[in-house]
Amino acid sequence: MSELRQDPVIGRWVVIAPERGARPQEFEPEPEEDIRADVCPMCEGNERMTLPEVFAIRDSTEPDRPGWYVRVVPNKFPALRVEGELEAVETGLFPHMNGIGAHEIVIETSEHTMDLAFAPDEQIIRVLTAFRRRVEDLRRDTRFRHFVVFRNHRRAAGATLSHPHSQIIALPIIPKLLLDQLAGSSRYFSQNGRCIFCDIVQRELDEEVRIVQATDHFVAAALYASPYAYGVNIYPRRHSHDFVTMTVEEQVDLASLLRRLLMAYRSAAFNPPYNLVFQMAPSIPPACEVPQGCANMEEHYHWHIQVAPRLSSVAGLEWGTSFYINPVAPEEAAADLRKGLPSA
Ligand SMILES: [Zn+2]
Ligand SMILES: [Zn+2]
Repeated sequence: MSELRQDPVIGRWVVIAPERGARPQEFEPEPEEDIRADVCPMCEGNERMTLPEVFAIRDSTEPDRPGWYVRVVPNKFPALRVEGELEAVETGLFPHMNGIGAHEIVIETSEHTMDLAFAPDEQIIRVLTAFRRRVEDLRRDTRFRHFVVFRNHRRAAGATLSHPHSQIIALPIIPKLLLDQLAGSSRYFSQNGRCIFCDIVQRELDEEVRIVQATDHFVAAALYASPYAYGVNIYPRRHSHDFVTMTVEEQVDLASLLRRLLMAYRSAAFNPPYNLVFQMAPSIPPACEVPQGCANMEEHYHWHIQVAPRLSSVAGLEWGTSFYINPVAPEEAAADLRKGLPSA
């Protein structure tokens, strides 16, 4: 059973998951693999190689059979397990709790070699629908406080299977980075009476230099103080703390923006490994204590998507201090990405 441990000094939670069985030799870098379609558990026809699906978009075909567009299955090797009661085992100097959570895989297509950058928009819309539907469902479990929807592209960004997929993790705690964001957005709101992210979007639109693409409903901009090269945030123009509030029209707009942005990365930065993360406000079940910064988060927090390419490795300075050196000015990154945007 995995365990959640909290750093007693800075308050960061970590999952200790020895059952995932990594040994030193498994940390060696491996060449970019490509599992053959007949043994890939995510390919159409191999549905029995996964755990039973918890969600799928299909044309009236049977669950766990071929004939689907998107499938969501529990991870066979989860970092956190859904079974059991949440127990905080110690709250003193070394706080820890048992590793309760959920870990699901969103298989984005039945086609092994499809890349989201080349996918039809309707397929990306289906993937976004799967994200929303699964988070809505997982939220009914009041043991969970936070949901992370993310995508690792290529092995250097953490993908262990090349078949296009994303992951959803439900956590029983709120990660420190999000608490830090909430503290900042809450402070700004109490000083200015406005959402800091709405103000950032307006400022980026005014300054223009970091805009990669602005559509009817979303703004993609290179991060002003990006810690890494080519970091981009996608913000919805409409203020909302929660991505499940996306309308159908917004979802259609986002699908097209995402596809074009991923294509721009391919042209401007040679198909870099990347992590794409949906950042949304946490869920605080009614009976629970509201952590600092989380009060009124519907007003001061604004959901967004972070795209973090892995163009350089994190070295001693960054690991040791969280002080980053970014070798590409965000304004240059935005200009390069704009040049790489496809015309449609
Ligand atoms: Zn496959
Ligand atoms: Zn806002």
